[in-house]
Amino acid sequence: MSDGTLFVVAAPSGAGKSTLVNALLEREPQISLSVSHTTRPPRVGEQYGRHYFFVERPDFEREIAEGIFLEHAEVHGNLYGTSRTVVEGKLTAGGDVLLEIDWQGARQVRKGKPDCVSVFILPPSRPELERRLRGRGSDAPEVIERRLFNSREEIAHAHEFDYIIVNDRFEDALADLQAIVRAVRLRSAWACKRHEALIEELLAP
Ligand code: 5GP
Repeated sequence: MSDGTLFVVAAPSGAGKSTLVNALLEREPQISLSVSHTTRPPRVGEQYGRHYFFVERPDFEREIAEGIFLEHAEVHGNLYGTSRTVVEGKLTAGGDVLLEIDWQGARQVRKGKPDCVSVFILPPSRPELERRLRGRGSDAPEVIERRLFNSREEIAHAHEFDYIIVNDRFEDALADLQAIVRAVRLRSAWACKRHEALIEELLAP
């Protein structure tokens, strides 16, 4: 079976997107997370090739010109992009791929791959978003302020996504995210291919 599903997940910084996505991937290990390229400096504990491919801006700009990105955008003053060949290779081989990207990238992906499934994660309230962002402890105060300021722009695009999840209780939000993945797998276009043998057997005279 070829052509897996492309999932796109976006959220304002501090909504808990990465924690949710990591928990989803533990439960659905057949989905692979795309590792983005970025010009952002690594945070403590982040590894090259695992969390991001950290690159210098001139190299990133050259890669844009070479057309290696499926999508790319400037977010919070840094460049981020998704490698086209890695994602398309996995999808063509029948694997599901998840992109954790911002609204601008999601818009580009939706345009090029309209059958992708896009999900937006909302925090339960503004004070809670602030609390989570400040509590993370991995960013400088000015970086936090910039991310808080930019969160309004990100949230203003929530309606462009196929699904919206409010991450209030973590377990509920995770169940919602998993429900979306499971529902996609039950779509008849996929299920007919997967259950071809069963359907043939049931139709046999
Ligand atoms: P962070 O610096 O906190 O890891 O990510 C900042 C923002 O950049 C998040 O909204 C994240 O989803 C977004 N982002 C990460 N990788 C990509 C990417 O490859 N493309 C785009 N467009 N956004 C990305």
